[in-house]
Amino acid sequence: MKIALTGIKPSGPPHLGNYLGMIRPALGLAAQYRCLYFIADYHALTTLHDGAALRQHTRALAATWLALGLNADEALLYRQSDVPEIPELSWILSCFTSKGMLDRAHAYKDAVAQNREVSVGVYTYPVLMAADILAFGAQVVPVGRDQKQHVEICRDIAQRFNHVYGELLTVPEAVIQEEVETIPGLDGRKMSKSYDNTLPLFLDSGRLRKLVMRIATDSTPVEAPKDPEAAPVFLLYRHLVGREAAAGLAEKLRAGGTGWAAAKQALFEALETVLGEARTRYEQWMADGSALEAVLQRGAERARDLAAPRMDAIRRAVGAR
Ligand code: AMP
Repeated sequence: MKIALTGIKPSGPPHLGNYLGMIRPALGLAAQYRCLYFIADYHALTTLHDGAALRQHTRALAATWLALGLNADEALLYRQSDVPEIPELSWILSCFTSKGMLDRAHAYKDAVAQNREVSVGVYTYPVLMAADILAFGAQVVPVGRDQKQHVEICRDIAQRFNHVYGELLTVPEAVIQEEVETIPGLDGRKMSKSYDNTLPLFLDSGRLRKLVMRIATDSTPVEAPKDPEAAPVFLLYRHLVGREAAAGLAEKLRAGGTGWAAAKQALFEALETVLGEARTRYEQWMADGSALEAVLQRGAERARDLAAPRMDAIRRAVGAR
């Protein structure tokens, strides 16, 4: 069975866009692949310089994956910083990474274009990501379009290394998740922490309802026909329940006589149905810090066991043993 690897940065509380755009499709891979899911806390350190917050987001993210159905007996769930082989490999790989290639990385170029101060960590982010992948011989890396370049950089690094030392590293394939569209936020722009327009995943019903009622709508009167496709409330509903199940609501909105308030109510109820039980499990995991830590520690042990033989071969090849 091929290995698929998925990481997510614990840079804030997970929201519905993370779930629909990434977590749900990634959990679906478990039927086809041996899955490695990791919490990329060292990647998050490029932007988050608050130890307590990073620790808290990491725990919340682990609890989120588990609550949403990650089976930690089959798949591996681990925290990046618990696997020291990853930063070790990152250094080795950096010696096979052309600086010109990192100069062309989108995230770095964007940061420079916006005149943001760029740390070396932001600059070498793609090398750490290559180590995340190559340490485990992952063959498949499911990514959104924005991450494709990072996998190409990883492939290039692996090929340069292999050119010198033989085929020690598995050159991964990016699987672009075309079907995952951008999930809109409360204001209709992409749901994102940086726009402050998110629906956090496990809010209590009262706060969730309030946020859903805040979703931007136009002022079309109840009786008038409406265009569901142009309304974030409908798009969120459709992403959540699927096209077929959403057809009824689309029809009603187009026909007129159904107001946006009814659409919001439908979305709220769907969120409660789809995520209600997961919220209870999330709260249970968050209340039992030692159980959560035990899952992460077991995941890290298994990840290290998986990385060990390859790392040993790599160290020997470069002459470090
Ligand atoms: P972030 O922490 O914002 O980088 O999000 C982590 C991952 O969640 C991204 O790489 C995307 O795959 C997914 N994601 C985040 N926001 C959205 C969104 N609004 N629509 C679709 N996918 C999203």
